[in-house]
Amino acid sequence: MKQLKPGFNLFSAEQDILLGREAVPEVQKQMTVVHNREMDAYLSLLLHKLEKSRYAHTLDRDGSRGELFPFSIHAVYDKKINAFSLPGGPLFINTGAIQAADNEAQLAGVIAHEMSHVVLRHMTNQASKRELVALPALLAGAATGRSLLGQLAQLGIVFTANSALLKFSRSDEAEADYNGAEIVADAGYNPIEMARFFEKLEEKAGRTGGIEEFLSDHPNPGNRIAAISDEVREMPRRNYVEDETGQLALVRETIRHMAAPAEVTSGSAAPGGSAPPSELPSKELATFEGRTFSFRYPGNWQVRHFERGSEQPGDGPDAVTIGPRGGVLPESVGYGLQVNYFAGDSEALIHRLQQENAGMEIEREARSIQVDGQPALLNTLHSRSPYGGGEVDVLVTVTRPQGLFYIVFVAPKSEFEKIQPVFEDVLRSVRFR
Ligand SMILES: [Zn+2]
Repeated sequence: MKQLKPGFNLFSAEQDILLGREAVPEVQKQMTVVHNREMDAYLSLLLHKLEKSRYAHTLDRDGSRGELFPFSIHAVYDKKINAFSLPGGPLFINTGAIQAADNEAQLAGVIAHEMSHVVLRHMTNQASKRELVALPALLAGAATGRSLLGQLAQLGIVFTANSALLKFSRSDEAEADYNGAEIVADAGYNPIEMARFFEKLEEKAGRTGGIEEFLSDHPNPGNRIAAISDEVREMPRRNYVEDETGQLALVRETIRHMAAPAEVTSGSAAPGGSAPPSELPSKELATFEGRTFSFRYPGNWQVRHFERGSEQPGDGPDAVTIGPRGGVLPESVGYGLQVNYFAGDSEALIHRLQQENAGMEIEREARSIQVDGQPALLNTLHSRSPYGGGEVDVLVTVTRPQGLFYIVFVAPKSEFEKIQPVFEDVLRSVRFR
């Protein structure tokens, strides 16, 4: 059995963790990190299964295993087949890589491979080798309270996406394969699938764009399948499964329907407009309890009750506006949702909305849907956003004994696809009493 040894490293494990933590926001500025409840839950589930292996733990000098790095996993919306990790635990996997996996064992294999680069501390090992002379002084004198990432950047050591330090040597790759194979095997996946995934990429490379980046970051250390087969032969016999949780197909379907997020343009407001809220909706949900209905919404959104006297009937506890900080403007809702009752039918309501919002147009014909098992109508409207540019307004109406229940979901057109899954969750959570 191969005995892995940690490489030369001037950084402490704590500094690895600190660096990774500081680098995550930088990566989020460079790439489109996406959130989706099913996908995030699935990736976390796989990560937790893999974390149970002792090979997921840090490697001490004597070859024994120590602490577990604080791993986290993030999906990046990118069709390119790629994955990478940062020192100390953050893992990033492109949606393209999830789509490319033939089975769960392959996806788990990619994650375990990335975890292994973290466990074996390959990134800070590379930095240590490169800056042998300057690093010890910098690390010894690293001012607390200042970003270590920033201090390292002065030496030209950059730990963000596409950094040269994330391009591994062939021997690093062989180690990550070896350690990763142990991690996936402990979780019940056949390690050969990890090798198959990498080999499949090599076969496809050249024919399909976007794979080269992954292969240049993770060069083939030799015959992967043969190396891992040798390793598997030394492992205790196990019955491997390929698709243990059975959720991969579902998550791939979710990704397939995921709307392309708008370009990362936070802070670049249209002329004359202020920037739409950039705070991500929290996954912790809060419940709005109206008198005649309830629904759930992101816990970091703010609730405001209507203060207009003309709404009849249903003003008060059943008229509410909810949105992220900065989404509910003094004059209107630019980002968020509005719920109330209207005395009249959908057509009359749209007509009134058009009177209130100059230039509001119907973008698509009404669709029949269901809300809490009740027949409902969904209208997609288009108007001008208070932030500049277009605005999408999705109006859902349900005829109730109290009048026409309606909920309008509002967002700038550039942001709408990103927020749509949150709106859909809100709509699914509506309960009438
Ligand atoms: Zn690698």
